[in-house]
Amino acid sequence: MSSPRQFFVGGNFKMNGNIDTIKSIVKHLNDAKCDPNTEVVIAPPALYLLLTREHLRPGIEVAAQNVFDKPNGAFTGEISVAQLKDSNITWTLLGHSERRVILQESDQFVASKTKTAIDGGIGVILCCGETLEQREAEKTVDVVTSQLSAVASQVKDWSKIVVAYEPIWAIGTGKVASTEQAQDVHAAIREWMGKELGKEAAEKTRIIYGGSVSEKNCKELAKAEDIDGFLVGGASLKPAFVDIINAKA
Ligand code: PGA
Repeated sequence: MSSPRQFFVGGNFKMNGNIDTIKSIVKHLNDAKCDPNTEVVIAPPALYLLLTREHLRPGIEVAAQNVFDKPNGAFTGEISVAQLKDSNITWTLLGHSERRVILQESDQFVASKTKTAIDGGIGVILCCGETLEQREAEKTVDVVTSQLSAVASQVKDWSKIVVAYEPIWAIGTGKVASTEQAQDVHAAIREWMGKELGKEAAEKTRIIYGGSVSEKNCKELAKAEDIDGFLVGGASLKPAFVDIINAKA
């Protein structure tokens, strides 16, 4: 049976790239043969959002890596949802573990920003995931569902949310979760969705995997029933990103 969920691949450039390299990544994507059944969204650093949108072909969307939860005003260094929309940036990442850990963003803050983005009409790639210590203590599902519960207490409509399950121990380490490890957590998230958000949200919400996804491991991971795509860091800066986009082709 084919999935009711469109395959989704996001590229998270993090704080990498410059005008030249981002233009060349965009050109590569523009020229590439990408599976038309896969939704593709790339997230360059904020400074290059407009450049990316200007050069990228229609059909591939652009995401910010973060957005603030206030509409405008005296918030030095922040960007609003309205400013993203004004610039034709239709998605944002939120709750990436690098922001949760390094910048100490709380579950509540991530939830508040998610609410602001969804209310403002932009899509959210909502990241969640456990540390190695939490996994070893068998707390993975508790950690992930409590990160998501914070959002569920503020956001009822999840139709513009894509959940990215990203075990912290797998991010940038080359240590990818096994297909079974990822599938187990994705299935647990879907079960949580069924209970907390209803059957329809559980069936329709994409749950994508992130953490050392490469052109080598993507096809195997993509076979799992509850893996609806990927959030790709390091490999999204390389030509092989196209192979990941085409993991299902
Ligand atoms: P990685 O990063 O693919 O480089 O592990 C994934 C992410 O942080 O989104």
